Amino acid sequence: MTALVNPASGVRLEDVPDSDLADVAKAVARARGAFEQWREATPGERARVLLRVADLVERDAEEITRREVEETGKPLPVMRDGELTFAVDNLRFFAGAARSLDGSGAGVLSSGYTSLLVRRPIGVVGSIAPWNFPLVMAVWKIGPAVAAGNAVVIKPAPQTPRSTLALARLFEEAGAPAGLVGAVTGGASIGSALVRDPGVDMVSVTGSTQTGREVMRGAVDGLKRVHLELGGKAPAVVFADADLAEMAGGVALGATYNTGQDCTAATRVYVEKSIYKEAVAALEAALRQIRPGDPWAASTDIGPLISAVHRDRVDGFVSRAVAAGARVAVGGAVPAGEGFFYPPTLVLDAAQDSEIVQDELFGPVIVVVPFSSEDEAVRLANDTRYGLASSIWTRDVARALRVAHRLDVGVTWINDHLPIASEAPHGGVKGSGFGKDMSQEAVGEYSVTRHLMIKHAAPAARDSFRPA
Ligand code: NAD
Repeated sequence: MTALVNPASGVRLEDVPDSDLADVAKAVARARGAFEQWREATPGERARVLLRVADLVERDAEEITRREVEETGKPLPVMRDGELTFAVDNLRFFAGAARSLDGSGAGVLSSGYTSLLVRRPIGVVGSIAPWNFPLVMAVWKIGPAVAAGNAVVIKPAPQTPRSTLALARLFEEAGAPAGLVGAVTGGASIGSALVRDPGVDMVSVTGSTQTGREVMRGAVDGLKRVHLELGGKAPAVVFADADLAEMAGGVALGATYNTGQDCTAATRVYVEKSIYKEAVAALEAALRQIRPGDPWAASTDIGPLISAVHRDRVDGFVSRAVAAGARVAVGGAVPAGEGFFYPPTLVLDAAQDSEIVQDELFGPVIVVVPFSSEDEAVRLANDTRYGLASSIWTRDVARALRVAHRLDVGVTWINDHLPIASEAPHGGVKGSGFGKDMSQEAVGEYSVTRHLMIKHAAPAARDSFRPA
């Protein structure tokens, strides 16, 4: 059993049974059976199931929202009007994507032969998800895989399983073959069993970079395709000509949305030296306006961190930075009272090679570092093991593009930080992994191109490569 805890109060919510190894094997076997049926479903049939699931999520929105707010401590409007609505939009996008013929084609590529390029599903996908956006992450894992004709067994994070369990039930209610989307519960050992199960053909994980490495190792023997969405440490690069009020509001939101528990969070702010003081003052003012509090209260902007252990980890980063000579300008201390809250925090004077600049801490903490030239800004922004998100703040369009092209990341926002869309691929490079979520590209990740070559006439010449 795993005890679910409300992070806003520390109170135990309910106990959820953990799956055992037999449950994993059973879910994979059911998924295999469902796959044999689903792989023959037409794009229209796949789309209809996904559209029905979207409708059912809307039908159950209140219940899903309540449970997710309880488990994660997200403010109610953020979940109800933001993430749930977005998850429904994602599902409807994937329904449409299932019917797009992108990646298929036909033509005479060699004289006398008609070639057909056909995209086929991969099989059973073992998916592993994190706790920071439980419903959205489950949809990003399941939606493209099912749209491409695969079956999925998903393991949510042990802290936040309920929306994923609900989603698996909704696929059955929507008419998907029994077991097409199965869910198993538990922690790393159950995740590892899922990755290694011989009935799983592909593994998809969203989690920390270390988990990505372990999952990749687990997939080696089966030579399974791996899709990894891992950690981040996004830079925000602020040039002297930026609109500082807009920058401060955008970066503060980008750093504290979901209490900073976001792989794309704006965590390292590089500011051109000539405006350093003004930019820091603007960021201080913006962070002071963000109100942590009760997730159910209308006045709340951010909720707690996910657990006491995680809050202490975040606080540890800040304390060690201060011990090494950094200065806290805003926040930086665990507040009194119940729940696992941590305030929006601004850290100055930390060295580029210090852990608070280099490592993902996954909390509402911004570190500001000055730079003197465009080249230096690019060098500092690229100088971490991660490569997921970034933003550039300037009124100079040419410079914005020049710098954006030099950043080793999956996404760059210009004069904003965070917005995403179902149509746009999301994913990183370097230690942030590889593989895309959302967009038509994600559907492509869960399928493989096959070549069918049909002889329709005597070839004009035997000049193409023909092994004996
Ligand atoms: P985590 O890596 O601790 O756990 C993620 C999931 O992996 C959980 O379900 C966990 O039980 C499972 N897991 C852990 N070890 C495993 C193993 N050895 N084998 C199989 N499964 C294993 O991450 P978390 O703390 O739940 O989530 C936060 C992390 O997720 C952050 O690093 C964050 O950046 C990342 N994340 C990335 C994206 C993205 O799109 N790139 C999105 C959201 C979160």
